[in-house]
Amino acid sequence: MPVSKEIFDRLTKRIDSYRDEMVEFQIELTKQIALGPDNGGDGEWKRAEFLKDKITAFGLSDISEYNAEDKRVPEGTRPNLVVRLKGKTAKPTVWVMAHMDIVPPGDEKLWDSNPHEAIVKDGKIYGRGTEDNQQGLVSSLFAMRALIEEKIAPSTDICLMLVADEETGNEYGIDYVLKSNPDLVDKNDIVIVPDGGNPDGSMVEVAEKSILWCGFEILGKQVHASMPQAGINAHRASAHLVVRLDQQLHQEYSRQDPVFDPPGSTFEPTQREANVPNINTIPGKEVLYFDCRILPDYSVDDVLATINKIAAEVAGEFKVEIKVTQPMIARAAPATSTEAPVVKIISEAILEVSQVKPQPMGIGGGTVAALFRKHGIPAVVWSTMDDLAHQPNEYCVIDNLVLDTKVFAYVFINES
Ligand SMILES: [Zn+2]
Repeated sequence: MPVSKEIFDRLTKRIDSYRDEMVEFQIELTKQIALGPDNGGDGEWKRAEFLKDKITAFGLSDISEYNAEDKRVPEGTRPNLVVRLKGKTAKPTVWVMAHMDIVPPGDEKLWDSNPHEAIVKDGKIYGRGTEDNQQGLVSSLFAMRALIEEKIAPSTDICLMLVADEETGNEYGIDYVLKSNPDLVDKNDIVIVPDGGNPDGSMVEVAEKSILWCGFEILGKQVHASMPQAGINAHRASAHLVVRLDQQLHQEYSRQDPVFDPPGSTFEPTQREANVPNINTIPGKEVLYFDCRILPDYSVDDVLATINKIAAEVAGEFKVEIKVTQPMIARAAPATSTEAPVVKIISEAILEVSQVKPQPMGIGGGTVAALFRKHGIPAVVWSTMDDLAHQPNEYCVIDNLVLDTKVFAYVFINES
């Protein structure tokens, strides 16, 4: 049931009045450096304490903690918070998940300002974490605050989940929360992860491809180039291998899915290690790699079987030995249906707030939303951003911060 225009107008006015405060909040948050131990930091504890104080001051007193033990940090645990705003009924609960941790600044010489002392310039807030993932955190939190201050009770529970350890594997963050509390988030809940997006906010990410990196070590016998009959040319075998892999993989796994860009699976020969340093030597060893991005409805094991079959054929034909390795396999979680309630409601909100046409899309790499999908919970990734995650001079566009807050507010007061 769409919400009344009068109520949403009140919320948008309220949110506009938060603009300066949201910028200030971003600056304060940036000072609370939250680096996980894998990134050489002492965790998210201080940032979580800071947030708990602020959130309570906003009138949000229902905060649960799902802290994960981690002996490497001074407090011995990594904080995970759930801030709940009760609705008229609990279900379906609307969840927004944002992560508290950041990545290190990287080479500080590439920054024009101190990465942990955010500055405002040309409508942007510059600082490490301002976009990834503070924008999502601040926008969803201020949307909840707007509901409280306008005394608007949502129809169902609204929950903001603030997690640790997103940047270094999620073991102490969302993965821990979902595994140790299997009933917390429901298959019928609405889950939005504002940790990725595009500049006009039209992209609603619903699916990912599987990632398969394959390495090939081709072993022949090195000889002088004038005496090929005395050796086994690993380069020739590798060239045939690349062409066959390229042709057969594209033929066998040719399905197209318009949700993705590009719509098909991709099989790209990428790195080739250096072989011999001179022209008149036949190389006895070649090492090369393929980067494969596979549509989620194909089995990665089927693709691997095809690859191994082709490698065995080439090895037999050219009398070389071929060792196949997989430096990385990331199997995609099932896609969120483009018909799922979460896709409908966020799309309606985007259209209403920013008048751009929402587009459900799949991407070529993994995101944290996949962890929800693996538990059978449909989740989307959405935000309005230039996508500067992990780059020097990371920034958050202030207009986007305000706009996303309105989109969340719309979602929060609309029934699915
Ligand atoms: Zn992130």
